[in-house]
Amino acid sequence: MPLPKAELHLHIEGTLEPELAFRLAARNGVVLPYADTEALREAYLFKDLQSFLNLYYELMTVLRTEQDFEDLANAYLARAAAQGVRHAEIFFDPQAHIARGVPMRTIVEGLWRALGRSTENHGMSTRLIMCFLRDESADSALETLEAARPHLDRIIGVGLDSAEVGHPPAKFREVYEMAADLGLRRVAHAGEEGPPAYITEALDLLGVERVDHGLRCMEDPDLVARLVRERIPLTLCPLSNVRLRAVDVLAEHPLRAMLEAGLLCTVNSDDPAYFGGYVADNYHAVRDALGLTKEQMRELARNSFRASFLEDDEDLRSRYLAEVDAYEFGDGPHGTPGRG
Ligand SMILES: [Zn+2]
Repeated sequence: MPLPKAELHLHIEGTLEPELAFRLAARNGVVLPYADTEALREAYLFKDLQSFLNLYYELMTVLRTEQDFEDLANAYLARAAAQGVRHAEIFFDPQAHIARGVPMRTIVEGLWRALGRSTENHGMSTRLIMCFLRDESADSALETLEAARPHLDRIIGVGLDSAEVGHPPAKFREVYEMAADLGLRRVAHAGEEGPPAYITEALDLLGVERVDHGLRCMEDPDLVARLVRERIPLTLCPLSNVRLRAVDVLAEHPLRAMLEAGLLCTVNSDDPAYFGGYVADNYHAVRDALGLTKEQMRELARNSFRASFLEDDEDLRSRYLAEVDAYEFGDGPHGTPGRG
């Protein structure tokens, strides 16, 4: 049985596996420039951020209807449940779809057809977080929030993603203020490829409650001390960091040092179809590369629920934490065999 965990940094568009991409392409009459799923899977072995983003946006064109978004979300939920995910806070990128003529309503209602039934169908609670593309304009982000207004009963928060460098958090101050006024939770990608100062800006100017990635905080001891003191969670994505070259090899990942510094770290999969693994695969990879102990693995799982936005259901959070506490590790390598 896998270690129970929450996933807090997951882009639903990044869960599109080659097989589903071809199925949706056929259904919608979209011609993909790949001979078959094998050829497409080879394209997933991209070399850098730009080739990843090119492929990511190219494949999104297969997502057209509510049914497509529902199928995408259900495919993720099935895989996540099998990896021990009990609760997921899922990102989506509406601007990437609206720009292709897919209305906000189709995206949100399509995803909701899966997420609204995630407990019955997959034994998982879910929440939806809408991300702004930071390489688009601040005005575009404001328009996106406006378009989301009729759907805010489905969306608990806002995030900020895509190419970080050159697009500091300050650019999105106004839209985050509006989001706060609307009662939305706030997160942002910061300190992945961008400098530690972007993390500080996200906290001070955007009021974020959780930082996505944030691993470059380790370059600034004062910032680390603040993140520890204020109990700001970080959503780390180790396999993503290797694929996008934020770290050269997993053995050099700062996760272990971050845990030992007292940071509230969580482990997540980011864009798992593209980065070589879903969330339990990330847990296993860091366990093996960094020699994490059973108790450190359990702490990561506890952190994932502590860092989640389950303030709207503290009973559920308590039940999940009790499941983590009761979890019995086997005695494989590092005491965590199976799907951990
Ligand atoms: Zn991300």
